[in-house]
Amino acid sequence: RACGVHRSPGRRAAAAAPRCQQQVAAPHQDIAEVLLHPVQIATRVQEVGRQIAADYADRRPLIIGTLKGAVVFLSDLVRAIEPLPSGLELDFVKASSYGSSTTSSGDVALSLDMTGTADVAGRHVLLVEDIVDTGRTAAALTRHYEQAGAASVRMVSFLSKPARRTTPYEPDYLCFDVPDYFVVGYGLDFAEQYRSLPYVTVLPVDPAAQRAA
Ligand code: 5GP
Repeated sequence: RACGVHRSPGRRAAAAAPRCQQQVAAPHQDIAEVLLHPVQIATRVQEVGRQIAADYADRRPLIIGTLKGAVVFLSDLVRAIEPLPSGLELDFVKASSYGSSTTSSGDVALSLDMTGTADVAGRHVLLVEDIVDTGRTAAALTRHYEQAGAASVRMVSFLSKPARRTTPYEPDYLCFDVPDYFVVGYGLDFAEQYRSLPYVTVLPVDPAAQRAA
């Protein structure tokens, strides 16, 4: 099947990202507006965590976070999932896209710099992503763990930009859809800045220019 990914649309019920009425004091001069407020984020992460806890009630998932962007989301999410009857395990992977020059047949070339220590064979893998943009990273990671013999591979993403999708990939669980802006905060960076912001914001610069940076 395309990208080795099957998705159940029913499970994916993202909240649209409303413009936040309540402004949060922005510590950086270059931040224009807050897109997702900390309270909105916390509420939605709790909801998604409960949904995952229900779905994995009879399993012990191996939860694999993508470095570095998903770390903040993962740390809140796993606390929203626990307690699971059989518990859960954590691992991390670092995936770097090589870009279009090494892309063939629509596949993304991934450098799995750190594939983690866990043996995924027979395990129920739940990948944790910060954002699904084109979907190439998510599809390639899913394929990687399926080929490594996982019993199941699902993905939960904090954000998704459906307007940018170039693959048929959709995450199984999603917190928020966002428009095609380059967003930062809550783990997402721009040149290693802004990861620790407790909210998600849009930098007032052209997204294409930022992506090329
Ligand atoms: P994809 O393979 O889906 O095109 O790209 C996924 C990766 O691109 C994400 O894990 C993230 O590192 C990066 N990315 C895509 N859109 C954004 C964005 O709006 N903000 C930030 N900070 N990173 C992004």
